Amino acid sequence: MKNQKIGFVGLGIMGIPMCRNLVKAGYELTVYDIRTEAVREAEAFGAKAAVNPGDAAKGNPVVITMLPNSPHVKTAVLGENGILEGTEPGAILIDMSSVSPLASKEISRDCEKKGVKMLDAPVSGGEPKAVDGTLSIMVGGEREIFDEVRDILLCMGSSAVYCGGAGAGNTTKLANQVVVALNIAACAEAFTLAKASGVDPGLVFDAVRGGLAGSTVMDAKVPMMIRGNVKPGFKIDLHIKDLLNAMDTGHGVGVPLPLTAQVMEMLQLLHNDGLGQADHSALIKFYEKLSGVSVVQEG
Ligand code: NAD
Repeated sequence: MKNQKIGFVGLGIMGIPMCRNLVKAGYELTVYDIRTEAVREAEAFGAKAAVNPGDAAKGNPVVITMLPNSPHVKTAVLGENGILEGTEPGAILIDMSSVSPLASKEISRDCEKKGVKMLDAPVSGGEPKAVDGTLSIMVGGEREIFDEVRDILLCMGSSAVYCGGAGAGNTTKLANQVVVALNIAACAEAFTLAKASGVDPGLVFDAVRGGLAGSTVMDAKVPMMIRGNVKPGFKIDLHIKDLLNAMDTGHGVGVPLPLTAQVMEMLQLLHNDGLGQADHSALIKFYEKLSGVSVVQEG
C-alpha cells in the first residue's frame, strides 16, 4: 500500500499488540476503543487517539477492527458515528474479530453499498503471537483486496491465507476454534487422569509433548493448568461465543457438532461459576469439580 495511514478500532488483549506492531512497521495509526485507558496505552507507543469509530476511520484508506463479537462489530461499523460514517468510498475495512460467517457476509454487503470493500480476517495464535507479530491470519473477501493489504496483514502475522469469498475467513476460524476447544478439553481430561493416578503432571507433559499427542495447544495451555494460572489469554466467554457460532453455522449446513456442544456446555458451567473472564485453559477446573483432583503444583 502506498498510503501508510490506518484506522484501528478495538484495543483489547489482541488489538493493543497488533497496533504496536503496525506502528513499529511505520504505519500511522488512529485508534479508538470504548475504554479510554486502552486508547491512552496506544497513544503511549505513538498512535493517535480518535473519539469514536468514525473518527478513527476518517481519511484512512484502511480501517481494522478487532472486537469481541458481531454485535460489537455492527455497532462500530454501521452504528452512529461508526466507521461507515467516517470512511470514503474506496476504503478497505479489515475485520479481524472472530464473528459468525453470516455476520461477516451481512456487514460486507452493507459496506459494499457505501463503496467500501471488506475482508473478514480473523486470527489464531493468541496474545503471545499477537505480541510477536506471528499470528496465523485466515482471510475471506475479494482476492484483489486481499492482495492489496497483504503487507499490512503480514506486519501482524507470519501467515495470511486467502480462504475464499466473504465469510470464508470466519468459517476457517470456527474450524480452528473447534480444534482448540476439543484439544484443551482432551488435555484437561488426560492430565487429571494422570494426577489422580499418582503421576506428576509436569513429567507427563515432558514425556508426551514431543510425541503424537503433543500440540501447540498442549504447549501453551498445559503449563498454565499446572501453574494454576488463569490470567487470559483467551477468555472463556469468547470461546463460548465461538463455539455457539460454530454450532449455529454447523446447524445451518446440516452438520451436527456433538463434541463441540459438550465442551461448550462445560465452558458454560465455568461461566456460571464466575470464570467467564478467565483463560480458556481454566477448563481444567471442570475436571477438578468432577474428580476432586487438582493438577496445580505449588512452587
Ligand atoms: P478483548 O475483550 O480483550 O478486547 C476487545 C476490545 O474491544 C476491548 O478493549 C473493548 O473495550 C473493545 N470494544 C468493545 N466494543 C467496542 C465498540 N463498540 N467500539 C470500540 N471498542 C469496543 O478481546 P480480545 O481477546 O482482544 O479478542 C478480540 C477478538 O479476537 C475476539 O473476537 C476474539 O475471539 C478474537 N481472538 C482472540 C484471541 C486471544 O487469544 N485473546 C485469539 C484469537 C482471536
